[in-house]
Amino acid sequence: MNAYPPILRDLIRRLSKLPGLGEKSATRVAMHLLQCPREDAESLAEVIRQMRDRVRTCPRCFHFTDGELCSICADPARDTGELCVVESTADLLALEQSGAFRGRYHVLQGALAPLDAVGPDDIRIRELMRRVDEEQVKEVIIATNPSNEGEATAHYLLQLLKDRPLKISRIAYGIPMGGDLKYTDRITLERALKGRQNFA
Ligand SMILES: [Zn+2]
Repeated sequence: MNAYPPILRDLIRRLSKLPGLGEKSATRVAMHLLQCPREDAESLAEVIRQMRDRVRTCPRCFHFTDGELCSICADPARDTGELCVVESTADLLALEQSGAFRGRYHVLQGALAPLDAVGPDDIRIRELMRRVDEEQVKEVIIATNPSNEGEATAHYLLQLLKDRPLKISRIAYGIPMGGDLKYTDRITLERALKGRQNFA
């Protein structure tokens, strides 16, 4: 890499810190940026700058927005009675892409992780409880991940919410489409059986 001019080396070094980009891919991206039309490279730099200036978290649900409320909170067609709790915006986007949910979300911005000293005050639980009390929420769907942290968070939320006049549900986990029972781990199988649904 020493054969490159220092400014190019610097770009490659910075790009290789991005998720999913090793040094090889970073070098390929840098070469592309060097050889593509100048205005393409400049508009990319400009959009990164503007994105950092404009995008912030929605004050209601903590999804990203470049306006006052995010597009989901501001959409009058979304069901205000259903609130889906997720750990991250990436999880929210995955659920949105499924098109299966028409309620609103609450992004916790993390999950409880006692070993890493992440407690209830470090994620957006207080804000969730305020929303549950102030908005006309009829059902809270807990969609934290099936990891130790996600499960701990789900159980903590259940304890907080269980005395309120609400339906509390947990998304089902099971066998992925195209999956095969004999290659599925024991915990997933146990969950899939517990979360079974009427078939007829
Ligand atoms: Zn929002």
